[in-house]
Amino acid sequence: MIQEPSESRERMTVVITGHVDHGKSTVIGRLLADTGSLPEGKLEQVKAFCARNSRPFEYAFLLDALKEEQSRGITIDCARSFFKTAKRDYILTDAPGHAAFLKNMVTGAARAEAALLVIDAKEGIRENTRRHGVLLSLLGVRQIAVLVNKMDQVHFDLSVFEKIKKEFSDFLKPLRVQTTAFIPLCARDGHNIVSRADWYRGPTVLESLDAFVKPPEAEARPFRFPVQDIYKFTESGDERRILAGTVESGRASAGDRVVFFPSRQASRLKTVESFNRRVSSAGPGEAAGFTLEDEPFIRSGELMCREGQPPPVVGSRFRVSLFWMGASPLVAGKKYKLKLGSARATARLARVLNVLDSSDMASTREKEHVDRHDVAECILETTKPIAFDLESGDEGTGRFVLVDHFDIAGGGVVLDAVEDGASTVSEHVHLRESRWEGSAVPATARALRYGHGSKFVLLTGSDGPALESAGRALESMLFAEGRKAYFLGMRSIEEGLDSDVQESFDPRDEWVRRLGELARILTDSGQIFITALTDLDEPEGRELGALNAPNEIVVVRIGLACSGALPAGLTLPEADAEASARAIHRHLIERAVIPNHSI
Ligand code: GDP
Repeated sequence: MIQEPSESRERMTVVITGHVDHGKSTVIGRLLADTGSLPEGKLEQVKAFCARNSRPFEYAFLLDALKEEQSRGITIDCARSFFKTAKRDYILTDAPGHAAFLKNMVTGAARAEAALLVIDAKEGIRENTRRHGVLLSLLGVRQIAVLVNKMDQVHFDLSVFEKIKKEFSDFLKPLRVQTTAFIPLCARDGHNIVSRADWYRGPTVLESLDAFVKPPEAEARPFRFPVQDIYKFTESGDERRILAGTVESGRASAGDRVVFFPSRQASRLKTVESFNRRVSSAGPGEAAGFTLEDEPFIRSGELMCREGQPPPVVGSRFRVSLFWMGASPLVAGKKYKLKLGSARATARLARVLNVLDSSDMASTREKEHVDRHDVAECILETTKPIAFDLESGDEGTGRFVLVDHFDIAGGGVVLDAVEDGASTVSEHVHLRESRWEGSAVPATARALRYGHGSKFVLLTGSDGPALESAGRALESMLFAEGRKAYFLGMRSIEEGLDSDVQESFDPRDEWVRRLGELARILTDSGQIFITALTDLDEPEGRELGALNAPNEIVVVRIGLACSGALPAGLTLPEADAEASARAIHRHLIERAVIPNHSI
């Protein structure tokens, strides 16, 4: 079996990349063999296998043999090898392919603190070499040792090495990564990996690994817990809710005050649980469950932080640096799913600021879309705010991936939150209104004829069936008085969604959009349009308001408000549907939507 690193020593995760055949596996094989990290008898076993099959032995085969053992026939995205030096334990991860690379880095399966990048001396820098450099920088890997391999193929001519060093240093310059070392190698013969060859004076690979600086421990950073799931336990009258997920950084203990973002609700941790066992605290990388003292309304996707520690940034428009690898380009007007920590949001490309072709780093400001293998700085907009940390070293709460249909099509880091500029919703509304074909009947004439104004009455609260019955009761009450009132059940909208919308995006985003457009038309026709949407939050309310403009919305909340909820024009206690309908009816009179017959 592969030796696992020990608990007490310092540990560092290093990713190794490089164009295929440049010698990555040979470097890993050599590192393992020459540091004595191979499982007992493995080297002999692979050598014997080669001899039996009349194949020359290669160090790269060692890795294949180990991978097979690790995966047991399952394809693994990221193979891991372990070795140690006197200084620390190393976990070397090997991510084949861009997609596996991005996925592993973003989901944190292989959070690397440093990287080794292998270049074949004879072949020189290839497109993938450059792309890997770009990916490393985007994913926040700041320290890279560049290994120029197969020096035997260029007769150990150090001027070839110097040329590659210069060219690649120039390429990396704009990328904010630090090359900590360039090392010429002959990995096949073990030159300069663990021991120095007589033709070279600089550091070996092992020395350059030990020279990598350990970034601040995840434990020392502010507490971040992306809420993945919420489990309710109702048996024996127990109303407990457990927030489940994995701690990203920092530590939290029972009794700590916590704040959730983006909703900004605060509470105190009551218990911390791990695998059905109560523990006193939870730290980085630990799967944990938390219960809260009071029970604020929390949705999965929120980021739980500790009060008094630096908060994350909350926004719905941000400047990002991303790498695109989708078969179709990243374009404005299309919806993508953005995943950041446990948050999921529908995202749109608002603006492209700068595009670099990752194969040659040629930069252009002219492009309005992002092609495959481009690296772009752009503004993304999400339909609801999400909480994130700005790109800072290896924190997982600042990296995101974009999903186009079902594929990870791009990923990157958030650079800034931006507030400037109109949102795509307000731009859309502006365009829609400028092209709106108004009715020949003025709204005032309509109101006179119908005997009331038009209005979008939106009921919200946490009890869906109660909201619906109140909405229907209001509809009957108004209709009985001869008003033009119409109640729309949300299922009618949900059922009308295309299957790909249902599957690939948060369908609620699409309901909200359709509801807003529909409300605009129905209120324009002079009706009192009533609907019910549970747990309406502020961004959703703002979007509905924008889409229904220039007409207005009356928001009615029934029951307690969840925090982060849209402020309501009328708040009612939970009551029977008839009582709620009467209260809303009175409110519509006060707002002069309908006349008061009792006068
Ligand atoms: P990977 O695809 O990057 O993992 O590359 P491998 O480690 O499998 O190496 C590709 C080929 O290059 C293999 O046939 C190796 O034996 C060979 N190779 C690796 N290092 C050296 C070297 O230093 N010199 C020479 N001549 N060949 C090497």
